[in-house]
Amino acid sequence: MKVQTINKQIREHSIENIKNKRDRKKDKKPLQAYAASWANKDRLYDCVGYTIFIVLPTSGCEWATKSGGCTMCSYIADSPLCEIDDNELIEIFDNEWKKQLEKTDISSHENVAVKLFVSGSFLNTNEVDEKVQEHIFNEFNKYDNIKEVIVESKPEYIDEDSLKRLGSIIPDKIFEIGIGVETLNEDTRLNKINKGITNESFEKSVNIINNIKEYDIRAKAYLLVKPILLPEKKAIQESIDSAKYAKEVGVKRLAYCPATVHAGTLMDYLWKRGSYNPPWIWSTIEIIKQVRKNVDIPMIMDTAGFGTRRGPFNCKKCNSKLKELIIESNLKQEIPKELEEFTCECKSKWEADLEFEDVLNTTTNPKT
Ligand code: SF4
Ligand SMILES: [Zn+2]
Repeated sequence: MKVQTINKQIREHSIENIKNKRDRKKDKKPLQAYAASWANKDRLYDCVGYTIFIVLPTSGCEWATKSGGCTMCSYIADSPLCEIDDNELIEIFDNEWKKQLEKTDISSHENVAVKLFVSGSFLNTNEVDEKVQEHIFNEFNKYDNIKEVIVESKPEYIDEDSLKRLGSIIPDKIFEIGIGVETLNEDTRLNKINKGITNESFEKSVNIINNIKEYDIRAKAYLLVKPILLPEKKAIQESIDSAKYAKEVGVKRLAYCPATVHAGTLMDYLWKRGSYNPPWIWSTIEIIKQVRKNVDIPMIMDTAGFGTRRGPFNCKKCNSKLKELIIESNLKQEIPKELEEFTCECKSKWEADLEFEDVLNTTTNPKT
């Protein structure tokens, strides 16, 4: 309970600071400026394709505003923290979508995916109204080459009616719902990540998704590598076990997010006091190796933040090369030979960390 209390205090303090800072500014940032979109080559279920990413501002993740949110997440700080009118949100989406359509002719790409981020739950109608959800899906349905539409949601907003309502708008596409289950370990999830998701609610939502037969609706699991208050060695094992668990529950794809330390979070608070370090890149490689060999569903390892001061890190000699090889592994869905055999002088420090972190009660930080 202590973690939740401190987490909530840190979050409230952070939100207050952001609001004060914004109030003091004469030129208020327009709502459109909270949106973003970009596109790049990315892995789809069956092939490498063209993926469009769209970030939409919403009033903010309800879980973060009410409970303090997850201990590693700072999305709320990027939200406008105010109510957004539905028509305004539609206009913001239209602008971002238009930008992407101007950048490329979608019909020139055989396989396109669209990933929609709302810094919260797309299926929560308090965050994204039905009218807005349907407008967006109707736009996507105009393009046959869009093969996958991916949104994110907490389990409590995943219900049969919403899924069928949206699935019926894009009947020929894969409609994927990413759920941030983060780990199979309920204690870690509830008490260290403060995710507010029980195994029961996760499993129930995956079943709801899989029981719909009329449309191709699939569940993806987001898994966090190295939450706070978890030794690196245990974090690696938990990540590997979580993949097996998610597959057994009926998840069709996995996305690992190795922790990066974001300002205004409990993770940041602990990191500044030397009580938390992001994972070693070696740890993420160990997870890739084990999961590719033992869990036969698509898996990607996110490399955002790799090699930065607040992100997963090895040493300056190998950070960039390993990031490149992990991206290659994501695209090909296999372990490149070079990654399998890769070694560097910093590997022995990682191995020593895994062996002695229990004694030191922390990992070292020799990552320069
Ligand atoms: S990880 Fe998701 S549920 Fe948790 S605080 Fe961030 S946006 Fe909200
Ligand atoms: Zn190295």
